[in-house]
Amino acid sequence: MTPIPDPSRPRFCGRCAAPLGEREDGGVNRPVCAACGWVYYGKNAVGAGVLLTDEDRVLLVQRRDDPYQDQWQLPAGFVEYGESPDATAVREALEEVGLYVRLTGLAGAYFVGDDPRTAGILLVYGAEVSGGELRAGDDAKAAAFFAPSALPRIAFQAHREALRDWETSGK
Ligand SMILES: [Zn+2]
Repeated sequence: MTPIPDPSRPRFCGRCAAPLGEREDGGVNRPVCAACGWVYYGKNAVGAGVLLTDEDRVLLVQRRDDPYQDQWQLPAGFVEYGESPDATAVREALEEVGLYVRLTGLAGAYFVGDDPRTAGILLVYGAEVSGGELRAGDDAKAAAFFAPSALPRIAFQAHREALRDWETSGK
C-alpha cells in the first residue's frame, strides 16, 4: 500500500514565500528555503472514530461522497488542527450518527495508505452511547448496526483492520 504523494508539499516558502529548493535530510528529500532556512516536514493527516457496538453488532455509516462513495465505515473523521483526537471521535459520532458517546479507551491505531486525499493515521476508540438518537448525519447516507458475519463493503483498509481486530477480540 503506497500512499499518494504529499498533497500539501509546497513549492514556495511558508514563511517568506521564496521559491523552495530541496535538500536530503534524514533520508527524506525535503523542500527547503535558501532565503530563510525554513524546512517543510510532511505530515500524515490524523483521523479519529468510534467503535460502537450493540450486543454483537457494530455501528457503521454509509459514505455519501467519494472516495469510496456508498461503501461503509466506522463513524470517523479528520482531526481538526489543534483538536484532540478523543474530542474528534465524540464530535464525529454526534455529527455522523446523532449519538452522544462516552469513550471507553483506545481500541487501535491504523495507518491509512489508500485514501486518495492524503496519507493518514486513524485512531479508533471504543465508545458507549450516553444519549441522542440514531440517525444518519451530514456525511452519511445511512447508519446501521451489522453483525460481523454480515458486514457490507467496507471503505479503507484501516477500517477493515479495525473491524477485524474487533471481531478477533471476541467483544
Ligand atoms: Zn523562506
